[in-house]
Amino acid sequence: MFLHGTSTVNNKGHLEIGGVDTIDLATNYGTPLYVYDVALIKERAQGFIKTFDKLGVKAQVAYASKAFSSIAVFQLVEEEGLSLDVVSGGELYTAIAAGFPVERIHFHGNNKSVHEIEMALQAGIGCFVVDNFYELTLLEETCRQLQKKAKILIRITPGIEAHTHDYILTGQEDSKFGFDLQSGQADEALKLIQTFDFVELLGIHSHIGSQIFETTGFIMAAEKLFEKINDWNIKFKYTPKVVNLGGGFGIRYTSEDDPIPVSRYVEEIVAAVNVKVKEYNLEMPEIWIEPGRSLVGDAGTTLYSIGSRKEVPNVRKYVAVDGGMSDNIRPALYEAKYEAVIANRMRDENEEVVSIAGKCCESGDMLIWDLPLPKSTSDDILAVFCTGAYGYSMANNYNRIPRPAVVFVENGQAELVVKRESYEDLVKLDVPLKKVIKQK
Ligand SMILES: *Cc1c(COP(=O)(O)O)cnc(C)c1O
Repeated sequence: MFLHGTSTVNNKGHLEIGGVDTIDLATNYGTPLYVYDVALIKERAQGFIKTFDKLGVKAQVAYASKAFSSIAVFQLVEEEGLSLDVVSGGELYTAIAAGFPVERIHFHGNNKSVHEIEMALQAGIGCFVVDNFYELTLLEETCRQLQKKAKILIRITPGIEAHTHDYILTGQEDSKFGFDLQSGQADEALKLIQTFDFVELLGIHSHIGSQIFETTGFIMAAEKLFEKINDWNIKFKYTPKVVNLGGGFGIRYTSEDDPIPVSRYVEEIVAAVNVKVKEYNLEMPEIWIEPGRSLVGDAGTTLYSIGSRKEVPNVRKYVAVDGGMSDNIRPALYEAKYEAVIANRMRDENEEVVSIAGKCCESGDMLIWDLPLPKSTSDDILAVFCTGAYGYSMANNYNRIPRPAVVFVENGQAELVVKRESYEDLVKLDVPLKKVIKQK
């Protein structure tokens, strides 16, 4: 059994996180419940920031908030000194509601609406990461109308795709994101921006994928970007102030995953950048990165109550919990794997292999296949590890299941940071039939 962060087993044989007994959490807040280990989020944040500091590199570490956005987590990462990536008006609104300094917010996305661009400009956004020609022109026009300046990075597709354990170099880049290097789109974008009055190009950005365990891909991307920078320096007398190498640092979901410490990513990225800066005789730019999953993923644990059980003789034992694809869609969406324990039987020996089913009306609503567990009964608490990223943020109301609550735990204290949805919440936006459609 692998325990993340401050997770441990207490003298009652219960799983404890942040010094708080998870069985007490389940009793006090109900299940399903997302529990976040605040100390682990802080440790990761400082792991990134302090390594840049130690190496004397000017940097911004932006939390890619799509992994888990809520007012409380934005306040937490703000205090840790991180910047913030948002990809929608809704995430931006949440950040503003959290009092996040808007100049430290970066606005991503491949199809920002006019309304979202206006909202960001009015709020005084730190920068836009511009994805395509449509957005470039739209941004310049919107800036002109509002008489506001905008700082931007342009997103480049470097022709490297991370496939978790290896990388493919794609000649003809096939992605919905970013300006292509190969066909000269990136050069065209730079030329266009140089004709603009309101948009200032701070630098370039690339993001090569997610759940990446080695530094090779980031180093390959850095090399590609610096080749381009050298080229721009010679052809257009342009040198970027910022090079953003994206996120995607891998975490340990199961024993099959073997991540490296976050400091190693930073060290190796900086080393690769240093080589290129010397080679091309450039000034050292600011290095920005955008971790999402690696900041909050293994800090999150979901607690479920166990309910029904079904045994298909000689085939499989199904154990069902009071949540499922409504609070964690990753297993159904991309066969993501998780580990789990019975939080109130941490000292019991594993006695059977069971498969954990959700309660949604879909055969595909299975959280974990073939999990060794102690003998369980209804009302035992199942704790699924590593659900902190892309769990709550992808939660939905399928089958009109209310979304769970979220608590933060640290130093023996628990704090509710997102309330559980109520049945009233579920019908809040519904409008009953009136006169337009005739009722019998
Ligand atoms: C999703 C995303 C990230 C974060 O990815 P993680 O795998 O959660 O670290 C960073 N940058 C961009 C542009 C993204 O789309």
